[in-house]
Amino acid sequence: SASGPAPVLDVHRIRQHFDFPAAGRVVTNNAASTQPPRELLELYRSLSPWYENVHRGQSSASQHMTGLFEESYDTIATWLNARSRRSIVTYRNTTEAINAVMYSLLSEFRDGDNVVTTTMEHNSNFVPWYALSREILPRFGRRVDHRLARFDPVTGELDLEHLAQLVDARTKLVCVSGASNFLGTKPPLRRIRAIADDSGYPRPDGDSGSLLLVDAAQLVPSSSVDVQALDVDYLAFSFHKLLAPFGIGVLYAKEHLLEQALPFLYGGDMIAEGQVAPDRVSYNALPWKYAAGTPNILGVIASAQALRLLLDLVAGGRPRWFGTAEPLARDVVVSSMDLVARHTTAVTEQAMRSAQDVAGLTVYGPPPGAPRSPLVAFTVEGMDPLRIAEGLNELGVESRAGCHCATLAHRDLGLVPSGSCRLSFALYSSPDDVDSAMEALRRVTAPARIGRVGLRAAGRPY
Ligand code: PMP
Repeated sequence: SASGPAPVLDVHRIRQHFDFPAAGRVVTNNAASTQPPRELLELYRSLSPWYENVHRGQSSASQHMTGLFEESYDTIATWLNARSRRSIVTYRNTTEAINAVMYSLLSEFRDGDNVVTTTMEHNSNFVPWYALSREILPRFGRRVDHRLARFDPVTGELDLEHLAQLVDARTKLVCVSGASNFLGTKPPLRRIRAIADDSGYPRPDGDSGSLLLVDAAQLVPSSSVDVQALDVDYLAFSFHKLLAPFGIGVLYAKEHLLEQALPFLYGGDMIAEGQVAPDRVSYNALPWKYAAGTPNILGVIASAQALRLLLDLVAGGRPRWFGTAEPLARDVVVSSMDLVARHTTAVTEQAMRSAQDVAGLTVYGPPPGAPRSPLVAFTVEGMDPLRIAEGLNELGVESRAGCHCATLAHRDLGLVPSGSCRLSFALYSSPDDVDSAMEALRRVTAPARIGRVGLRAAGRPY
């Protein structure tokens, strides 16, 4: 690419593991979901000799699957630098993980407590707290406030002073996104941790401080995350944004919180073997206390395998497989994800620079050079974002238009209901992807120029 930076990662090699480049797709909607490496889809075939349920059979196949399944939790724990798999619970997605926290805390909210979130949240970290406050607890005769911290409409920065004003000695929980899926803002989590710690909310252990939940759906895919260093109480993300198939989300929670909380799903496997009587049930050890019913076994194994594949793609080695692989090394995770962060940041900055040449275009969120997750949401004066996205699609460029489930933030900026158009990047995004997307955007927003040869035909398949 003439205009793009030299990529930090060898994207040419990485893209050979994916099917989308040969299909002529310019995949620039990665904040919604990423593409799976080919080896990941082949994993399903390679598991067929052992295809069995886990924790539910004495066959060698079931034992083998159980081993792979449980190891997957170790892999995810190392990825996040959790102390152990006992802190890792799997759900369907981020949304279900956040709802699980809400339901498990239901019995603990006292009348007059409050929850503080922000107006830059994805609806999955807003609506559960809205429902808790306005729909659920009122039916139990309890009143819990839901407070919203604002952001600076020009810089997209979370207003920390406002957040600190809202957090008080009745704040049970502070819920923030680690990276906004619309603005790209990355709120300073350590400072927010300090604000929560200083709230004065009395904890059952005699200490004080509010719980902190981080929606990391947009943070985990493009940076290394250390749950112990951040000292978060809860952290949720979805694997479909991290090369893995749909259907698996993770809730990390501090072990003592999972020990003491009530699960919100009850049934088989979440009980201690043999410990069920009509008047007494004991729950299984963590994390299986939170794994009621047959889990998404293939999804969990594939998710952990996706992490290993990601490391292999970054390092340039041959994909390794479960059963033969040694445990993940945390330092490799950190250094690999630092490369992914540098790469996706460079590609995003290229897009930000290039966007400046598009007449009438406004980019939302942090200014160039400020921390930003790898996405750029924008509007173009006089054009419906949906028309822009459709026009891009006609030229082979994939984007997303609308409110991206970040409806409150769009409302704050006066962009409801039409929303914005968003381009978003992943570790396999190339400078050519950005050039293709921006050239398509210039054509779509300058109607007289439409009708030339489509980019799909002109673009060189990587
Ligand atoms: N939070 C953020 C910041 C997101 O970007 C998303 C996905 N768009 C979610 C939560 C919800 O993820 P899921 O749909 O997988 O539950």
